[in-house]
Amino acid sequence: MAATLIDGKALAAKLKQNVLTEAKTLPRKPGLAVILVGDNPASRVYVTSKRKDCEECGFYSEEYALPAETTQKELLALVAELNGRADIDGILVQLPLPKGLDEKEVLLAIDPAKDVDCFHPYNVGQLTIGTPVFQPCTPGGVMEMLKEYGIDPAGKRCVVLGRSNIVGKPMAMLLLHAHGTVVMCHSKTPDMKELAASADILVSAVGKTGLVTADMVKEGAVVIDVAMNRNDAGKLCGDVCFEEAAVKASYITPVPGGVGPMTRAMLMKNTLTAAKLHQGL
Ligand code: NAP
Repeated sequence: MAATLIDGKALAAKLKQNVLTEAKTLPRKPGLAVILVGDNPASRVYVTSKRKDCEECGFYSEEYALPAETTQKELLALVAELNGRADIDGILVQLPLPKGLDEKEVLLAIDPAKDVDCFHPYNVGQLTIGTPVFQPCTPGGVMEMLKEYGIDPAGKRCVVLGRSNIVGKPMAMLLLHAHGTVVMCHSKTPDMKELAASADILVSAVGKTGLVTADMVKEGAVVIDVAMNRNDAGKLCGDVCFEEAAVKASYITPVPGGVGPMTRAMLMKNTLTAAKLHQGL
């Protein structure tokens, strides 16, 4: 392997340590409320890890595990109650919601000043015009990684595979604001292979194991694998054929231990930012 491994796990630990240090200086502990509706096992794992992250960062946290039969009205009432609570700085609704619940309406109901996931249209708009209050967690985590390893997107060709609201679009926006020349690819892009192979920084956020092969990686490119897939053996893996891509890349993220831990750390950072805002700091 020629590439340097970008260690997301180590960087996330450092980031959380910094958050803890700053949280200790606040008059009041940052508070995060996490709402989980239904019994999606993957979501349950995420919620448990968020509770652990809160403990590590010295935050107050609350967890609401609601039954799958919860109505839209009940969910909105809980969000409204948390919006009004002075001890809660961040509200996170674990997605996806069970069928029958309107995700958009729920996300819109969260006070933008408590929208630590950065999904509310107000915060998406702030991000687009270049004045974000919160960093979208996954793309924000990628930018922290680039910074840590001295990789400056300015003037570089950045190719983002995937255009979801959660990853692809905000990723492209952050790279653009960092003065990268950004190309976005999606399921209707006919020449994705060629475009990917022209990238100085290649970010894959599609969710298809084995999608990014060595011929899609330019010699010396930085390869960021956002995906979290399960291969046939049930093992966690990304979109990138890691071994072959690592031979050509200059830097590469592993899965697991890459972007995943950074996403979690960025949520803590955003909750700290919200707590500071709410305490007039
Ligand atoms: P998503 O909403 O399903 O979006 C996938 C995107 O990939 C869509 O824009 C889709 O295009 C595009 N796509 C699908 N097939 C393609 C193909 N063959 N070629 C090019 N583009 C293709 O997924 P997501 O929520 O963005 O998540 C993407 C991956 O990142 C998943 O593996 C997810 O588990 C992972 N993820 C990881 C983290 C983390 O913390 N590491 C956080 C969030 C997500 P269309 O728009 O045309 O359909």
